[in-house]
Amino acid sequence: MTITEENPTAAGAPSFDSLDPRTGAVVATHPIHDEADVRVAVARAREAATWWSGLTYAERADRLGAWKSLVTQRLDELAGVMSAETGKPHGDALLEAALAIDHLAWASGHAKKVLKRHKVPSGLVMANQKATVEFRPLGVIGVIGPWNYPVFTPMGSIAYALSAGNAVVFKPSEYTPGIGLWLAKTFTEAVGKPVFQVVTGLGETGSALCRSGVDKLAFTGSTATGKKVMAACAESLTPVLIEAGGKDALIVDEDADLDAAADGAVWGACGNAGQTCAGVERVYVHEKVYDEFLVKIVEKAKGLQASDDEGSQIGPITMPSQVDIIRRHIDDAIAKGGRAILGGPEAVGDRFVQPTILVDVPADSTAWTEETFGPTMTVAKVASMDEAVARTNDSRYALGSAVFSKSRGMQIAERLRVGMTSINGVITFAGVPSLPFGGIGDSGFGRIHGPEGLKEFTYAHAITKQRMKPLLALTTFDRTEKAEQQLGKMMKMLHGRGGKK
Ligand code: NAD
Repeated sequence: MTITEENPTAAGAPSFDSLDPRTGAVVATHPIHDEADVRVAVARAREAATWWSGLTYAERADRLGAWKSLVTQRLDELAGVMSAETGKPHGDALLEAALAIDHLAWASGHAKKVLKRHKVPSGLVMANQKATVEFRPLGVIGVIGPWNYPVFTPMGSIAYALSAGNAVVFKPSEYTPGIGLWLAKTFTEAVGKPVFQVVTGLGETGSALCRSGVDKLAFTGSTATGKKVMAACAESLTPVLIEAGGKDALIVDEDADLDAAADGAVWGACGNAGQTCAGVERVYVHEKVYDEFLVKIVEKAKGLQASDDEGSQIGPITMPSQVDIIRRHIDDAIAKGGRAILGGPEAVGDRFVQPTILVDVPADSTAWTEETFGPTMTVAKVASMDEAVARTNDSRYALGSAVFSKSRGMQIAERLRVGMTSINGVITFAGVPSLPFGGIGDSGFGRIHGPEGLKEFTYAHAITKQRMKPLLALTTFDRTEKAEQQLGKMMKMLHGRGGKK
């Protein structure tokens, strides 16, 4: 049920507009797919899944390779669609799409190695058995995506689910439907079968996808919607993957390269206008370098201007309602005694928000506790790295994090209760296809990317095959007393001597 130019919205059918957030102009009108439409798409996907899962890993990799080449050849066109629907600068759109292509290449290239049937040790008790496990496709995966990284984030599910042998029905955000359709259109052009389809609409279409009988639902979006998705999927015991919000911290140690840390903090906080799940929102700086660090971040950030000018490095806030949230967080920080050393309440416009740096903000302010999703950061002085670690971990969100330190980066990173950490860099983990990506707590659960991301869209099928008759016949009603005694002796030998008295 991919609705494209060749298959436009039927006259009179419910529809919605996608808008250019820089100007408010209508980019395109798309149908609102209802429950029946979604079920039709899932049924078609299920049929296609039979063919797709029957291919060998190499045959699937060939087809995914053809899609990857097509997307790469048309990278500029894709970046154009992305800029039109999100307002993000062309260069940012290119970077995002390039990373997604790299993930597609990794996922299709590594699926066989990670998922194919392989031997595992059978242990002494079952030594007569050959034990193997294979990770098999689940069938049809429903993917619900956000608008902030409308290619990179859903592709973390789509590329890995397809590589594992599943068909996919994707519901892109209502702010970025054209991007989802572009991806599905190029897939069909390259592969020729409806293995990857798109349904468009608002939250209700997403809700219908949760209830459509898909074999797993991969959701990326806000924590609040993630809870609704999980509740809807619970009705049919449909498993879920939840990639939700974040409030990521960046830690600056006393021996850090302050220029690099300042650069990372400003880019991590303001890149993509701050609309990054793993963006930098909180910064904890060692007291010995705090003042110097503040001077450097203000120096760096004050040259940035959010606007729709050609060449601007910061675009608009894509979702209009987010502007109010950003304003509320800044106002709350100031009302509670904080100060804006750059930007502040006046930095929040109708569509654009200028970089804002907040200091002296009490710990109970929403600027510390809630996801802001704007080009802002809240910075605090800490007396030690112990304090930095404790404050980083004191959040209901736990997605990514960053540490800048010359001598203790690894030591600090290993104490953080988060899904990912980059040392002396920001968000670099997202670009490494062999690393799992995801969070804990209110940031969700499950993983995209890496071997874990491939396995996420499979079920394990374990097989034992008898190689020879057992020395001890245990799984039979003919079990002898002698066999039981021998089992007891063997257990004592194997497991009875460990541990402290
Ligand atoms: P959102 O929760 O508003 O919407 C996400 C998607 O869910 C959209 O496609 C929407 O139509 C759909 N939806 C809404 N209501 C639904 C319902 N009841 N049932 C099913 N689907 C429903 O999120 P958003 O504003 O599009 O995205 C921003 C959020 O996504 C931020 O919180 C950000 O941190 C998070 N995010 C997380 C990651 C990650 O990997 N952890 C990546 C990108 C974005």
